Amino acid sequence: MIRIGLGRDIHRLVCERPLLLGGIVVPADKGEDGYSDGDVLIHAVIDALLGAAGRGDIGELFPPSDPAWKDACSQELLRRSFEQVKKAGYALVNLDCVVSCELPKIAPYRKAIRASLAALLAVDIEAVFVKGKTNEGCDSVGAGEAIEALAVCLLERV
Ligand code: MG
Repeated sequence: MIRIGLGRDIHRLVCERPLLLGGIVVPADKGEDGYSDGDVLIHAVIDALLGAAGRGDIGELFPPSDPAWKDACSQELLRRSFEQVKKAGYALVNLDCVVSCELPKIAPYRKAIRASLAALLAVDIEAVFVKGKTNEGCDSVGAGEAIEALAVCLLERV
């Protein structure tokens, strides 16, 4: 049996915060605001994985109302979420992601982001892909005020 999952997240971009994408710091003038460390890509990936496994969503597992998740490390949230997915009897086949922002360009960091996500999920780098897109100047992402991530994953029953 195979199952597809979809995840999306958006964070405001602010000065004096690092830009975290998939567990690495990408050099940029602004980074994600957020209750956790703000890694928008990991948050989208978590929701894709949990959704595919039918195990809830990031807000349900790690509610912002719980002080335990203040400044939480998104990599740790991903590890915990993926544990749930594996416990439900699934393995990750592949993960595909889109990061939308005006700046910085994602392409130079793509391989490092893919490697980081692949390491966190203990899969081959070929199972993880990441694309960067601009928003062509439209909306909050296009104005450089926000960054958005989409993730889709395929799980198989093991
Ligand atoms: Mg988020």
